[in-house]
Amino acid sequence: MLNVENLSISFGTDEGLITPVQGVSFWVEAGKTLGLVGESGSGKSITTKALMRLLPGNAHLSPETRITYRSKNGKEIEVEKIKPRSRELRALRGGEIGMIFQEPMASFSPVYSIGNQMIEAIRLHRGCGKREARELAVEMLQKVGISNAAVRIDQYPHEMSGGMRQRAMIALALSAGPALLIADEPTTALDVTIQAQVLDLMRELQRDLGMAMIFITHDLGVIAQIADEVAVMYLGTIVERGATRDVIRDPKHPYTQGLLKAIPSLETLHDRLSPVPGDIPSPTERPSGCPFHTRCPDAINNICNVRTPVELTPAPGRAVRCWLHDEPKSGRSAA
Ligand code: SF4
Repeated sequence: MLNVENLSISFGTDEGLITPVQGVSFWVEAGKTLGLVGESGSGKSITTKALMRLLPGNAHLSPETRITYRSKNGKEIEVEKIKPRSRELRALRGGEIGMIFQEPMASFSPVYSIGNQMIEAIRLHRGCGKREARELAVEMLQKVGISNAAVRIDQYPHEMSGGMRQRAMIALALSAGPALLIADEPTTALDVTIQAQVLDLMRELQRDLGMAMIFITHDLGVIAQIADEVAVMYLGTIVERGATRDVIRDPKHPYTQGLLKAIPSLETLHDRLSPVPGDIPSPTERPSGCPFHTRCPDAINNICNVRTPVELTPAPGRAVRCWLHDEPKSGRSAA
């Protein structure tokens, strides 16, 4: 339903042009979940903002970028060509593609009740009357597990607990009946038990509503629970892609391997976790060759720091950008 080809995003800044997303390609199938994973600064959120045309005015898409979305009525939309402030863009945002964020206050206005905001979204995208919209809003709040929804609908965001606000935000995003939901770190700010409840809820809603989802997180453990496919991002590029169970069982890219080693488990409770060493560089200081070579334990001398890896297919349905999967592997030694 969504196909992204060669997405590159540049920003004009005082220090010149920076390109935090370079040549990203992926697709999302109807009813399936794609997990987009990587550390902060890997370009995950900017990528999905481009899908909603929510980038700031100083952002530019490269001429090679193609974003194609198939709407609920089967129409093919070239998202990168939609005019700002057009009716098509309003229908896309919220109506076709919903979005939820880490911080619910980013979605809600503090000065209107939850109900007012949901009713407005439902009327805008579903074209129904006020009473019907209110009934639908109450129904949606019940669906996300908010008890006494008929009363709580009139509460303001600040009157709800963090977990409940998160549920209300999911209800708001789903109230317009989107076919694709983009969830940007929706559980990161919640404590572990609420996190598990919200993940369960999202899985359940996705199954019931037959929605597709892009789930953004820095946590591969969360991806393992929710995504069918995963794309691992590093410094604005997808470095590994495949079915989640294959990537988790047999990660091909050293960065994915590092992310997996950083997940605590009960079996390794007494072992030291080995997170990926160092920090992700700024897009203004993008290393030459493989962008990961400054942190990679397997970097190949005089290859990884010079040649940018192309996308390779180490197994059917898998894609990886790493010279370790190229043949022949000549001149290998720790950098
Ligand atoms: Fe490491 Fe080289 Fe592979 Fe990059 S291309 S991930 S530096 S081994």
